[in-house]
Amino acid sequence: MVRAIVGANWGDEGKGKITDMLARESDIIIRFQGGSNAGHTIINNYGKFALHLLPSGVFYDHTTSIIGNGVALNIPYLMNEIQSLVDRGVPRPRILVSDRAQILMPYHVLFDTYEEARLAGKSFGSTKSGIAPFYSDKYAKIGFQVSELFDEETLAEKVERVCTLKNVMLEHLYHQPPIDPAELLETLHQYRDMVAPYVCDVSAYLHEALKEGRTILLEGQLGSLKDPDHGIYPMVTSSSTLAAYGAIGAGIPPYEIRDIITVVKAYSSAVGAGAFVSEIFGDEADELRRRGGDGGEFGATTGRPRRMGWFDAVATRYGCRIQGATEVALTVLDVLGYLDELPVCVGYEVDGEVTKDFPTTVKLEKAKPVYVKLPGWKCEIRGIRRYEELPENCRNYIEFIEKEIGVPITMVSNGPGRDEIIYRNV
Ligand code: GDP
Repeated sequence: MVRAIVGANWGDEGKGKITDMLARESDIIIRFQGGSNAGHTIINNYGKFALHLLPSGVFYDHTTSIIGNGVALNIPYLMNEIQSLVDRGVPRPRILVSDRAQILMPYHVLFDTYEEARLAGKSFGSTKSGIAPFYSDKYAKIGFQVSELFDEETLAEKVERVCTLKNVMLEHLYHQPPIDPAELLETLHQYRDMVAPYVCDVSAYLHEALKEGRTILLEGQLGSLKDPDHGIYPMVTSSSTLAAYGAIGAGIPPYEIRDIITVVKAYSSAVGAGAFVSEIFGDEADELRRRGGDGGEFGATTGRPRRMGWFDAVATRYGCRIQGATEVALTVLDVLGYLDELPVCVGYEVDGEVTKDFPTTVKLEKAKPVYVKLPGWKCEIRGIRRYEELPENCRNYIEFIEKEIGVPITMVSNGPGRDEIIYRNV
């Protein structure tokens, strides 16, 4: 049985916590897209961790954690992340890396940085982890697959070929020093030795695992609105954030994905540039940012303050639809207990007309939020474990959101800890 855990919004919905929680009853957890550009924050018995490349199942000793072929694999970063867990007392996790995963090269990080600098004020707000140059190269067919590290002759020839191309850009567009092919080849030899113990034909492994009836979790990064096809293009990430891509980025049949748990945040937050219709500013935003998440809404990778907003039912309904959500986990609800009333964006006004459909980017830039205000519950809800024990106004907020998005909310998260969850039968 395969389940996917994905985000309906702009990312940072709390997917890490839900994955860590559900990993307890899973055998295999897979990252299928993205790279080290976003982070999951997880709090458990070992402490508080920000994971970037490793799947959120690494804390259990019964699980196998997999880096699927769809991931942008930064090999030294992965090694450091594994070591940093071990250094903090976590048992060494069982990790497999797909032989078809492609390698994030040192020059991808450089190109990301140079390009952001070149674009200056018009930049995409990249985390400069090299993700966009990586996926550009993958689709331009000049990327390096893990498997290629093990064929010396072709590797050396390809390094020469790719350097010729990259050096033209470095010299003429960015006015930066060229890459030395011999040095790059040496780096790739080091990468080969680092990754060798983990390399696996992941798709074949999963085929067997499915036959044996194992429980598999696909862990998505970011959210629907950052998807390059269905998100707020061009202010998106460079690989698909959708559950459907899990089949491709892990190498399993699409029909095996039975359950798509879509994580929705009880208010909105976003990092980077791009339209954000229900965004709030000033003191109102500062207060929500300060109280938000676990210790404030600041990026797990960059430490950047996140942009804040009220719950956006238009974006979230769309985000759930495009994921194919079968159920929703509503997170960080506990944060909202201080508010007298809670605005919910239920429509967008575009050119004088109100719509409930999430528009394409050009129209989105012009959209203004239409709000409905719900009364607050004005108390702490952490510690509550039964849905009926939540204050009535809190339940009304949940049920209002559920009706707007049209997907059952089966889990309500009321704190960052592993056990701070309310299951709901709907
Ligand atoms: P992800 O990328 O979707 O995993 O999200 P992040 O880890 O970037 O952001 C979620 C943040 O909210 C983390 O700091 C979590 O510890 C925290 N968090 C998750 N669920 C809850 C919750 O229900 N309540 C509170 N207060 N914090 C939560």
